[in-house]
Amino acid sequence: MSLLLVGTGVARGVAIGKAHVLQHGRPDIPEYTIPRRAVDAEVARLRAALERTRSELEAIRDQVSGTLSTEIVSFLDTHLLMLRDSSLSEAPAEHIRTRLCNAEWALEQQRDLLARMFAGMDDEYLRSRSEDVDHVIGRVQRILLEQETRGHRGAQRRPEGRVVLAEDLNPADLVLMHHQGLLACVTESGGPLSHTAILARSLRIPTIVGVHHVRDYIRDDELIVVDGDRGTVLADVDEASLAHYRKRQQQQRRYRATLARLRGKPAITRDGRPIKLQGNIELPEDAAQLRENGAEGVGLYRTEFLFMNREAPPDEEEQLRAYLGVVHALEGAPLTIRTLDLGADKPDPGAAGAPCMNPALGLRAIRRCLRETALFKAQLRAILRASAHGPVRMMIPMLSNLHEIAQVRALIAEVKDELRAQGEPFDADLDVGGMIEVPAAAVAAPLFAARLDFLSLGTNDLIQYTLAIDRVDDEVTYLYDPLHPAVLRLIHGVIQAGRRAGIPVSMCGEMAGDVRYTRLLLGLGLAEFSMHPASLLEVKHIVNDSHAGELADLAARLLAAETPEETEELLARLGAR
Ligand code: PEP
Ligand code: MG
Repeated sequence: MSLLLVGTGVARGVAIGKAHVLQHGRPDIPEYTIPRRAVDAEVARLRAALERTRSELEAIRDQVSGTLSTEIVSFLDTHLLMLRDSSLSEAPAEHIRTRLCNAEWALEQQRDLLARMFAGMDDEYLRSRSEDVDHVIGRVQRILLEQETRGHRGAQRRPEGRVVLAEDLNPADLVLMHHQGLLACVTESGGPLSHTAILARSLRIPTIVGVHHVRDYIRDDELIVVDGDRGTVLADVDEASLAHYRKRQQQQRRYRATLARLRGKPAITRDGRPIKLQGNIELPEDAAQLRENGAEGVGLYRTEFLFMNREAPPDEEEQLRAYLGVVHALEGAPLTIRTLDLGADKPDPGAAGAPCMNPALGLRAIRRCLRETALFKAQLRAILRASAHGPVRMMIPMLSNLHEIAQVRALIAEVKDELRAQGEPFDADLDVGGMIEVPAAAVAAPLFAARLDFLSLGTNDLIQYTLAIDRVDDEVTYLYDPLHPAVLRLIHGVIQAGRRAGIPVSMCGEMAGDVRYTRLLLGLGLAEFSMHPASLLEVKHIVNDSHAGELADLAARLLAAETPEETEELLARLGAR
């Protein structure tokens, strides 16, 4: 009898391979005293481990830059910077000299000291750095321990050709293991919107999160099957099942070859409805990936990543350079720049005041910008100046009140006057749109549509706020349901409001790039999708294979469905599940 374990599939695909069980999130750190004469050798051992960590991270960074989201690259850069800081390069060596302790323990002492220091800080951003310190020190310690065990038990195994089972994985570890050739990954915690999950999707590593106690059920080296589409892990698999999964792998390979052929082709439904497929980007360098996947420009440029991992915000000129980098990379394709969305899941380096109990409901995004108009105006100026060089639109996140639009419009008018007076060129007709990601804005969508030039559905937040579930809390991931009737009704209402007002409506949340929902969204009348570039060809494949008219009938019946059975049946017919 096979053993079946269930979690949440966050990156699709089937993998068959031996389990590589990582027992500890953090290694057990030995503590011992060294003789005074061994101090220099121990310091040298520490320095060698720091050096190896540095060269490993540099090698990973160099291999991935250009192919991965630069957010991940800058994440690795932050870790490299930390390794160079004297708190890691000098202080632990000093502990070895003064306390006569081993290198692993010296690092542990330094880790505790830094953790206490960070915990006492008011600044949420700096507090969040404590986790990075933990990752970096843990990596150096693992290298030291590996040297130790190697002397006794031979070299440590790498996850090459194996399925990694872990409590959790941070993005840097996932990147490292990807380069060591891991096949798939299963974790006990984590959610579908974490950076590790997003990264796994873009690296196409079949990944399942939230498989509680998986390491208690599966032994190292045991042959297992990971089904990222269904979120299942199978052990004790019989020959017939193995043959079934091998066939699915073959089908997937053929499918990917079909997708590659869609690159230069338009996205158009069988009944002739053109669909706009755009990409989401986080840093200017991401624009390169869009062309490879045939995106029609950028539907969401998350500018807050320019403001993260640093203490002082970028000034107008630095922002302008970044925006122009994207405008030029897009070679005439449209660019939607979203104004700052700091706070909640996007740590805000400059947030003032006491830590907030509910940051997702606090002074986040446009609320923060309207409070700090000097910061906001610098960004408005940079966006307007960029608009002189290519087709740029501006998008405002987290609108919940109409007066916010009036305030933004007034600030834009002020900035335009200043730019005119300074002789700076800009697009006087620049479109200003809003993200509909708070239920209040979705319910009152016609009022918002009347005051904006376009709307974009941010389903990550819209689902979070509608269903009252923290989008990064894995305890409530099971309630995260894009198909909840309340969510579908809101989405439909927003699309209709846009149509009636004669303005475009796009969707830029993760739902837009999830092929399980493509047909349903087409049926609800969505004609513009913006997503991670890695999903674009798959969505195009479904669009080109769909009949929008037929889907509209099914979607209308789904919205009116009264029983769960009816809903299930219609969803199955829509191919939504
Ligand atoms: C969303 O909320 O769906 C969205 C696209 O914005 P973000 O994920 O950046 O909050
Ligand atoms: Mg959002």
